[in-house]
Amino acid sequence: MKNAETRGLVLFSRNYREQDKLVKIFTESFGKRMFFVKNASKSKFSSSLQNFTQLDLLGTINDDGLSFIADISETTIYKHINTDIFAQAYASYLIGLVDVAIADNQYDRSLYGFLIKALELIDKEVDMAIITNIFELQVMSRFGIQIDFGQCAFCHRTDLPMDFSYQYNGCLCRDHFDKDLTRVHVDPNIIFLCHTFMAIELSQLPSLKLSDELKLKLRQFIDGLYEHYIGVQIKAKKFIDGMDSWADIMKDNR
Ligand SMILES: [Zn+2]
Repeated sequence: MKNAETRGLVLFSRNYREQDKLVKIFTESFGKRMFFVKNASKSKFSSSLQNFTQLDLLGTINDDGLSFIADISETTIYKHINTDIFAQAYASYLIGLVDVAIADNQYDRSLYGFLIKALELIDKEVDMAIITNIFELQVMSRFGIQIDFGQCAFCHRTDLPMDFSYQYNGCLCRDHFDKDLTRVHVDPNIIFLCHTFMAIELSQLPSLKLSDELKLKLRQFIDGLYEHYIGVQIKAKKFIDGMDSWADIMKDNR
């Protein structure tokens, strides 16, 4: 048990007993922690503990069991994420991924910073599909998956069009396509994009414009990777997958 001050992001909260709440906060200094908030609706912190709120908290951090909040200051709210249902779906998906990618109580300041940066960009209405793809690719390492999209698994050449092989957990250059008859047959541009996205710093994100066709191929390829290597079901992802049809319905009704 320690009294501490840390920056944190509210991941989600749920009711507990009649009046109380459990609030999961990804803290910068202590990883993800579950906080107990007594009489939540009457608590002076209740408005600060909405999902996607970034805050400074002072509290008691326990390694076993629940942690407690003594004070909250410096709250930051993501306005666009809070008011746009689509931005909210993407933000929820990233939060869901972070929640399963690392164990609770595990210190991971760089993942915290990465998540905050991604949310800031979504909030600024930078292309959220692209931000999400970059996030998905880079966070795979937290699940123990390291894939090199930059070179052929056989000859290590980097300059030829490449395909992906689940059999070799890596890429095959044109000269080695015959090593795996079940290779994915993905557009080589997608492999190139994945390689680029793996190395990109969100804080120095260049302005990226991708065609709808490339974005769809990228979405499908990364879905395949996640199905094969990660195998987690995040509720918000289902909503995102259905979003194109939602957007069409809303357009038709205008
Ligand atoms: Zn090769």
